[in-house]
Amino acid sequence: MFGPDKDTGKTVSPHTEIDRILILDDAPENCLLVERILKKAGYGEVVSTQDPGTAMEWLGLSGDPKNKKEISLLLLDILLPGGMNGLDILKTMSSKEEFADLPVIIITAIHDAQTLESAFEIGAIDYVTKPFDANELRARVRSALRLRHEMLQRKQREKDLEEITDKLSEAYQALLRVSRTDGLSGIWNRRFFDEILEVEWKRSCRGGKPISLLLLDIDHFKKYNDTYGHQAGDDCIRKVAGVLKDTARRAGDFPARYGGEEFAVILPETDSEKASIVAENIRSKVQELQLTHEASQTSAYVSVSIGISTKTPGKEEKDSLGFLKEADIALYQAKETGRNRVALYSA
Ligand code: GH3
Ligand code: MG
Ligand code: MG
Repeated sequence: MFGPDKDTGKTVSPHTEIDRILILDDAPENCLLVERILKKAGYGEVVSTQDPGTAMEWLGLSGDPKNKKEISLLLLDILLPGGMNGLDILKTMSSKEEFADLPVIIITAIHDAQTLESAFEIGAIDYVTKPFDANELRARVRSALRLRHEMLQRKQREKDLEEITDKLSEAYQALLRVSRTDGLSGIWNRRFFDEILEVEWKRSCRGGKPISLLLLDIDHFKKYNDTYGHQAGDDCIRKVAGVLKDTARRAGDFPARYGGEEFAVILPETDSEKASIVAENIRSKVQELQLTHEASQTSAYVSVSIGISTKTPGKEEKDSLGFLKEADIALYQAKETGRNRVALYSA
């Protein structure tokens, strides 16, 4: 219903369902009267019954589920014939989540405060007294339905907001990933490496566990580019990155492209002995790629030199700069002593 409100003429907010009002009253003349008042007020879908069983079935509380009707408002008589009364129906409804947004207005002939209190406790939101006053009935029905629509709208808004938040968070995660990934090689980039190095360094300081860093540089790469072209050079970088990714696979191991044809691997909780094994593994696997490098004075295939630094940070070392520098010195030593080899920093 989107348009002018039946009573006020004011435009009400949009909602998709048609209001169907259900009346359960054991007196047929009451049913007829309420139906007539509400239909005259513009509520097209008004159904009534004197039988609690039928009402239960229409509500989907018992019987054949095919007979369930979508109900937006229930007008419920408390005193009913047979074993059941209105409170029993209210009780059954209150235990089911799907009725949380179905407003119930109690119809009562007697001003029994105790019964009304029980009805409100179980979930009724309002009551009307017999004999009916048409104006009062219309006003109560209108405000009950308005309350329901507002509740449904609020829930929809909350759901929409949740969906938007989920999508935003997904997009943020994707963006974060892209901003941390090296476009050429697909492994982590220098920026993220700097971040992680700080994090791991601090963790190592706290835990007193050794941490190792590998710095790796492709040998005679300028000549490789000159011989086979820049495109082949890029392919080579991608393949070496692939070796790093496949070799440094322990949880926490962090391979990154450091820049150009240089790479770095952070190995948390790793001593120099184990770091040397990882480095040697990487070195030999790059050789095993058998990427022909005719212009290399070192090997028939593309090779790498790797410098290792291992530290168990003490209190006197506040940042990881020295750690990085020592790996760089070790890499220089590996280059100086012939390339295609691993060198461990020693003071
Ligand atoms: P060394 O054995 O001493 O390391 O010699 P090198 O030739 O590998 O070292 P140098 O620093 O002289 O040259 C590095 C070359 O790497 C030069 C540069 O053009 C190339 N390079 C850097 N980044 C990229 C890249 O993203 N793609 C390609 N194809 N080449 C790159
Ligand atoms: Mg270099
Ligand atoms: Mg190089």
